[in-house]
Amino acid sequence: MTHSNQPYIGRFAPSPSGELHFGSLIAALGSYLRARSQQGIWRIRIDDIDSTRCIKNADSQILNALEQLGFTWDGAVTYQHQHTNLYAEALERLLNNNQAYGCQCSRRKLKNLQGVYNGACRFLKLDPNQNGIRFRNTRQDNVIFDSVQGQHDISLPFAAQDFTLKRRDGIISYNLAVVIDDIEQGITEVVRGADLLDSTIHQQQLYLACDHPYPKWLHLPLALDISGYKLSKQNKAKPLDLHEPQKTLIQALNFLNQPTFAGMEELTPASILRYSIANFDVQSIPKKRK
Ligand SMILES: [Zn+2]
Repeated sequence: MTHSNQPYIGRFAPSPSGELHFGSLIAALGSYLRARSQQGIWRIRIDDIDSTRCIKNADSQILNALEQLGFTWDGAVTYQHQHTNLYAEALERLLNNNQAYGCQCSRRKLKNLQGVYNGACRFLKLDPNQNGIRFRNTRQDNVIFDSVQGQHDISLPFAAQDFTLKRRDGIISYNLAVVIDDIEQGITEVVRGADLLDSTIHQQQLYLACDHPYPKWLHLPLALDISGYKLSKQNKAKPLDLHEPQKTLIQALNFLNQPTFAGMEELTPASILRYSIANFDVQSIPKKRK
């Protein structure tokens, strides 16, 4: 789907589960440069839907860190918890259209299925208010097109499964929340880490179920720690060193294979970002970590 006549609207959507770390800086920087190099809008949304993972004040720490690094964003910062009525409406529509159903399967049972749901509850007509809710997936598409990763094929059993929209404990799934939020905010391209590449197929299917064109996708290489794990708040990635924000930015630019030069650290963070916007080259972004 193309959006050639629309202005570019991008976003950075961190979860407030800890301070900004190098992995989330990559997503912030990549989405920022991509948007600003096209004179686009760049929004910030705090993805706090999974309240069990939220840490108090992590949102203001993240925003402060972005400010120290020279980032500026458009409009007010939004929060997923402000959108709970939108998620409820979307679920209602999908249930009414027979595109969703109640699922009573326990987490332990789902774990045994190794990531692909077997549709056990599909025809049981369970009360969606008393159970989890799944998408009734009738689609066979399993390919996404990505501005950095190119054509990405996903295993058909994974792509075609009935994925979760709402957990049994009442928490809205990432897939549903992110689609509804991005529609609400008019996002034209989603730029984020490649750990979300496979679940993109389910988001694409949800856009179609909501009769809405899906955005473009751009998945950045993941920053890994020395043992090969994704840098994330869950595995205790170190917060960024903000005493020398210039050096931190330059490291992130190097990671994305964007131009830097000797003496760049003498500039202000805002000037580094201005230079990087003017010289941004999406073709140079590596698919994977170097
Ligand atoms: Zn089930």
